[in-house]
Amino acid sequence: MAETEHRPTNFIRQIIDKDLANGLHTTVHTRFPPEPNGYLHIGHAKSICLNFGIADDYSGRCNLRFDDTNPEKENIDYVHSIMNDVQWLGYQWDGDVRYSSDYFQQLHDYAVELIEKGLAYVDFSSQEQMREMRGTLTEPGTNSPYRDTSVEENLTHFEKMTNGHYEEGQCCLRAKIDMTSPFMCMRDPVLYRVKFAHHHQTGDSWCIYPMYDFTHCISDAIEGITHSLCTLEFQDNRRLYDWVIENISIDTTPRQYEFSRLNLEYTVLSKRKLIQLVDENHVAGWDDPRMPTIAGLRRRGYTPASVREFCARIGVTKMDNLVEMGMLEACIRDDLNANAPRAMAVLDPIKVVIENFPEDQVEELTAPRHPNREELGHRTVPFSREVYIEAEDFRESANKKFKRLVLGKEVRLRNAYVIKAERFEQDEQGNVTTVYCSYDPDTLGKDPADGRKVKGVIHWVSAQHALPAEFRLYDRLFTLPNPAAAENFVEAINPDSLSVVTGWVEPSLANAAECDAFQFERTGYFCVDKESGEAKMVFNRTVGLRDSWAKIAD
Ligand code: ATP
Ligand code: MG
Repeated sequence: MAETEHRPTNFIRQIIDKDLANGLHTTVHTRFPPEPNGYLHIGHAKSICLNFGIADDYSGRCNLRFDDTNPEKENIDYVHSIMNDVQWLGYQWDGDVRYSSDYFQQLHDYAVELIEKGLAYVDFSSQEQMREMRGTLTEPGTNSPYRDTSVEENLTHFEKMTNGHYEEGQCCLRAKIDMTSPFMCMRDPVLYRVKFAHHHQTGDSWCIYPMYDFTHCISDAIEGITHSLCTLEFQDNRRLYDWVIENISIDTTPRQYEFSRLNLEYTVLSKRKLIQLVDENHVAGWDDPRMPTIAGLRRRGYTPASVREFCARIGVTKMDNLVEMGMLEACIRDDLNANAPRAMAVLDPIKVVIENFPEDQVEELTAPRHPNREELGHRTVPFSREVYIEAEDFRESANKKFKRLVLGKEVRLRNAYVIKAERFEQDEQGNVTTVYCSYDPDTLGKDPADGRKVKGVIHWVSAQHALPAEFRLYDRLFTLPNPAAAENFVEAINPDSLSVVTGWVEPSLANAAECDAFQFERTGYFCVDKESGEAKMVFNRTVGLRDSWAKIAD
């Protein structure tokens, strides 16, 4: 990772510093444990940057481990997308990719150990009965009638479970802990359930699958994870995590630490909700540029560095909050302002005819790719008698604040000459279609010789050279800052989250490749979409030049 990226400390790093200082650990080993049941989102990026970032900074290691204990909801496409997204963010896991399913046999054997110790039993109660026996937050639970089954009988039942003798829902393996515990997760939690499901890694080898709480801590211990970092909703489950580790024969003692999830304004960060957006076609797939997925952000034009920078800026705490979208946008704006080449594009074109410019003449002008990064070089910008400008850059009359083209007045065409609007044409609806201008040939790269001041500068493209382009302009996907809190988040979808316009871009962009980013001068930051082609280039607006939402809020 680039050394220039600042890494402020946080409470987890302080714990690690202490553990290293007092010799509890000599190295740091973390893991990122996604369930392959959806694409990664920006919340996962926070966890990735935390886990891999710590491994990098402490010369430790970080595993990528698929937490794959729910075969029905998981698939191999998600596995691949997750690996791709982690690497795109700039991280590489230690050794091979791991799967919790790699440990199914060991997990089974630890379950047997718990049964042998009298710490687990097979329960044949119905789900309904189990729910009733569980108690509530204010009332203790009651013991299951199967709680005192002998070790021998439990071993037999568990073996039969494993061999497919029982139906789904007929029985499950539970830990024998404490039905009166104030922590619900300690009230004899389920460790294994029967599921005749095909698994993307283990095929049909198993018809029992371990629960998350049983699997995660043991997987951490097997891999020698020192600091197991997860989000706050697992705080209570830490009791169970420690209970399992204490009661099985394993040498390592991983510790779990919890931090707050990322919540981001005007979007949802829950795979269940994101799946719904995709399945119900509210968006055009997981990588729709409006999605908060890593794939969506990438297609929108976010860079890995900007996402990492965002994660550094939000930090890691135990406090729940809702981060402003402006924070995320500021990170990509800063990156692209510093790094994206400049170009000219006209999104809502009207034609300008420069009547005193010879009809078949083309002038090859040059313009810097970046105002203060000479190393990025120059591009050629052809100038000819007919150019396109933005419709909003011309007015028949305007006050002095309008520093663009006004009838009878002058404006500079960016990187080119000063022109003056002489007359214009309109269509039946009164829309200006063509502005007839004259140009001052003595103003290329210099002010008019007679000292008259021309303040305004507008962008343009040569009509005969311009490449046709579609521009996809995105807005917030939701109209509410916290759609997840709405009764039905789908109703909070912004109907105007995408508008598509067609216009023109300068010809130097002909060879731009997918994801290439540009600042279209005066218009915003854009990147080439994967659907861009010869017939028509397609650009996604990543973000505007300024924070337009801050302005509206003011
Ligand atoms: P979701 O709620 O979106 O379905 P999840 O927690 O079920 O997410 P996992 O695949 O289990 O998704 O998550 C992998 C890791 O990423 C976990 O350690 C989880 O705590 C972390 N993570 C998930 N969402 C966020 C978030 N919004 N902010 C920070 N970390 C997150
Ligand atoms: Mg999860």
